[in-house]
Amino acid sequence: MSFQEYRTSERIEEELDKLGIRHYRVSETGVVGVLEGGIPSKREVALRADIDALPIEEIEGRAYGSENKGVMHACGHDAHTAMLLGAAKLLAVQGKELSGTVRFLFQPAEEIGAGGKVFCHKKNETLGNADRILGIHCAPDLKAGTVGIKKGINNASVDHFTIRIAGRSSHVCNPEKGIDALYIASQIVVTLQSIVSRMTSPIEPVILGVGKLRAGTAYNIVAADAVLEGTTRNVSDENRRRVNKLIEETAHSIAGIYGASAGIEWEDFASVLVNPDETCDEAIAVVKETVGSENVVTNRKIFLSGDDFCEYQKEIEGVYVYLGTGNPDKKGTENPYHTFDFDIDEDVLEIGAAIYANYAKWWLDRE
Ligand SMILES: [Zn+2]
Repeated sequence: MSFQEYRTSERIEEELDKLGIRHYRVSETGVVGVLEGGIPSKREVALRADIDALPIEEIEGRAYGSENKGVMHACGHDAHTAMLLGAAKLLAVQGKELSGTVRFLFQPAEEIGAGGKVFCHKKNETLGNADRILGIHCAPDLKAGTVGIKKGINNASVDHFTIRIAGRSSHVCNPEKGIDALYIASQIVVTLQSIVSRMTSPIEPVILGVGKLRAGTAYNIVAADAVLEGTTRNVSDENRRRVNKLIEETAHSIAGIYGASAGIEWEDFASVLVNPDETCDEAIAVVKETVGSENVVTNRKIFLSGDDFCEYQKEIEGVYVYLGTGNPDKKGTENPYHTFDFDIDEDVLEIGAAIYANYAKWWLDRE
């Protein structure tokens, strides 16, 4: 799980040791491997894999299933880790002929939108002098063997909000003496949806979801407190600011009508993930060489999840690539992310490893 990837990090280190690749920890569970090529050069490139799992109980009966109860790799980050180690192996054997440095970033805590920030905060240790970065993520919606590289917006910004309503309790028979936090919270939940339907453009996607609401202590007492939690997903910074501000105004206004107060806390999980056109074209060329142009998908639908790979793109140019892992002949491999029966077609791991390695070599060899 996020920031608890202790055993995972040890296993990564064991594998890097076998390959003779120097490594160190960044944060408690992040690992950075550094491979210096035999030909002196200032060129550096970074390859990133996220390594954390999720609090989901995996479906029973899989020989390769999670041994940690209630914890599962339901987003394929174990595959990302394996592919980056595969790339490390491919590049380590060519060590003498490599000109420049490859940095392998095994990043913790992507699922809580925190690891990328930690790695970028310590960019001297992680990115060093790298001026290009590649990340790969599994994609069950893409056919195994294909690779999705999309220009522009790939993922949404992700914010998490908590709204706390402070009312006043009273006997249910004296509503006039209390301030009903439960009723107020319900009104806020309903009204928040009008931000999407009535206050944002229908041609720019926005998600505003409230997934948690807790209020009250007993059926016959006016609830003194209510807490609701939700998330917003946006594909532009402008909408992100606007939608989040409207949420605050809505909560304050509705609470104000009834004499309650609303406190709002925000957590910034991820910014919009945008693949720059030119960087995308470069990656498309490398991937076409690796898997053939017929297997490159450039129009994959955007999915409004977030990915903290966007943090690296704020520091240096980088591209995020989606590796198809869905195979109709292999049960479960087309199931969506974050489900208890998520699975991947493992035959594609070598493709991912090759893409990482070929991209690194291409960047180091570039004039
Ligand atoms: Zn993921």
